[in-house]
Amino acid sequence: MMDNGLSTQAMYHSMGISPQVFAFGEKILAGLRQRFEEVDRIAEFNQAKVIDAMQKNRVNAACFAATTGYGYDDMGREVLEKVYAACFGTEAALVRPQITCGTHALAVALSANLLPGDELLSPVGRPYDTLEEVIGIRPSPCSLREYGVRYRQVDLLPDGSFDYDRIRAAIGEHTRLVTIQRSKGYQTRPSFSVAQIGELIAFIRSIKPSVICMVDNCYGEFVEAQEPSQVGADMIVGSLIKNPGGGLAPIGGYICGTEACIRRCAFRLSAPGLGQEVGANLGILPAFFQGFFSAPTVVASALKGAIFAAHVYERLGFRVVPGAAEGRHDIIQAVELGSREAMLAFCAGIQAAAPVDSYVRPEPWAMPGYDDEVVMAAGAFVQGSSIELSADGPIRPPFAVYFQGGLTWFHAKLGILMSLQKICDAGLISYEKLEDASVCG
Ligand SMILES: *Cc1c(COP(=O)(O)O)cnc(C)c1O
Repeated sequence: MMDNGLSTQAMYHSMGISPQVFAFGEKILAGLRQRFEEVDRIAEFNQAKVIDAMQKNRVNAACFAATTGYGYDDMGREVLEKVYAACFGTEAALVRPQITCGTHALAVALSANLLPGDELLSPVGRPYDTLEEVIGIRPSPCSLREYGVRYRQVDLLPDGSFDYDRIRAAIGEHTRLVTIQRSKGYQTRPSFSVAQIGELIAFIRSIKPSVICMVDNCYGEFVEAQEPSQVGADMIVGSLIKNPGGGLAPIGGYICGTEACIRRCAFRLSAPGLGQEVGANLGILPAFFQGFFSAPTVVASALKGAIFAAHVYERLGFRVVPGAAEGRHDIIQAVELGSREAMLAFCAGIQAAAPVDSYVRPEPWAMPGYDDEVVMAAGAFVQGSSIELSADGPIRPPFAVYFQGGLTWFHAKLGILMSLQKICDAGLISYEKLEDASVCG
């Protein structure tokens, strides 16, 4: 019988991975055992945290029943929200399929807790693209700006740290809510650790105790052992087709936080007076419960993929953000590939390794709201799900692809090997270079 290593290599070979690319990957992996153990330790802790929250709230088979119509007395929905609240250490939670995506969840949290005349402050620079229209930075009907909510922003210092002096100066009589984005999103700044967010919140509170601190938690859930709600955030907000849905939730968003904030969010999402009491689950709750249960290990798989990708491409001389040796605060890995051809080859590899739509080749296209063409690779079970293995980026210097997700580590590994294979196939990296890189460093 063949030993396992050999037959896996043969399998990969039959899928198009050359022995040279495979060997290079194994070389890199040999040095990552400790990093992966760290990731697993956090996953183990978070897995226990999720199970504990489910046990304390007595999750049982009746929680998985579908409700329709108004959805009054939806026991499963109520238990699910208690599970999220218990796990993230908050008084209350709103977890709904009626929240259509992360942007929607953020828009609900903001518009529910800001009134005309209030000021919204971002102390961490520009927010995620889609929030520009929510806030009214780019004009849009129904933006917060249209409703008389003003926006202020304090940029990060050049080294990516908080500009405390200017933050202090920006907090005034009208400052009502501070929004902190944990993940860098598609920017080049670093993502923030939960500890850093805690420090920032403590600083803001020392200046104005009544201010509401909200954290855009997208891509950050379960990367660390604590969430921002456990270091002082009044609300944390995210998407269920990212980390906390565990790849199983087909839609949805969450807001966890104080009773006072969440109550207002529920009134904004449904209607004043109705709040959290309505919202049929339509049979989706098994996926929400099971996805949340799986989320810690799914996030660990995605993190291993990100760490592997960082090491592979950094060793080959590309700039990667975060750097291979740096700590992780979200699941996103940027790789600056330096050319359009390399970007297209990388994305072709991710696509070719997918379980769904593997036979299509991603083509760059002009996306609304972007100045440059964008290329995207995704072969996902859930459309647009970025906890599943995916890569994308605008085609402009420094030709960076943003790589994220992977429901299993082995799929992430295959995707990264395939990306490198396609770059080699395109003649952009030679096998000699792989050999050289695997001996040095
Ligand atoms: C994905 C994301 C959003 C928006 O979520 P959608 O589900 O795409 O609407 C907001 N903020 C950050 C940091 C994100 O990564």
